[in-house]
Amino acid sequence: MDCIFCKIIKGEIPSYTIYEDEFIKCFLDINPSTNGDLLIVPKKHYENILDIEENIVIHIHKVSKKIYHILKERLNIDGLTLVQNNFYGQEIKHYHLHLTPRYKDDNLTQNFNKDLLDDISKTYEKLKEVNFT
Ligand code: AMP
Ligand code: ZN
Repeated sequence: MDCIFCKIIKGEIPSYTIYEDEFIKCFLDINPSTNGDLLIVPKKHYENILDIEENIVIHIHKVSKKIYHILKERLNIDGLTLVQNNFYGQEIKHYHLHLTPRYKDDNLTQNFNKDLLDDISKTYEKLKEVNFT
């Protein structure tokens, strides 16, 4: 499979890896938004939220907590934003969690098109009383 993250995991492409274990590899994002911007990537190729196994998601989030402490200690971060894109907005089709350190005055912004917004009550009408079983 021609997947850049699979190649990084196999060591065929270099990466700035800060942690890895049996299940995941954590490396710096090559195009960082802030200092320490990094990715947690499962070693097995899952595409997105729909096919990844729950125990791997749990492991990824456990490691996120540890990484938070490391970033706080080493880079003096003020906060940490977690993002995980699926389908639209997902450039690399191998599941990954973005850990983006936040710093006061970093000016990180997301400019959504607010013209697309419906009234919140209209959205709620579409989402309420969903059967989650
Ligand atoms: P997404 O849009 O959620 O799929 O994000 C993909 C991320 O992978 C982007 O932030 C890229 O900068 C990052 N990326 C792409 N190629 C590499 C690479 N070789 N090493 C590290 N990060 C990469
Ligand atoms: Zn892959």
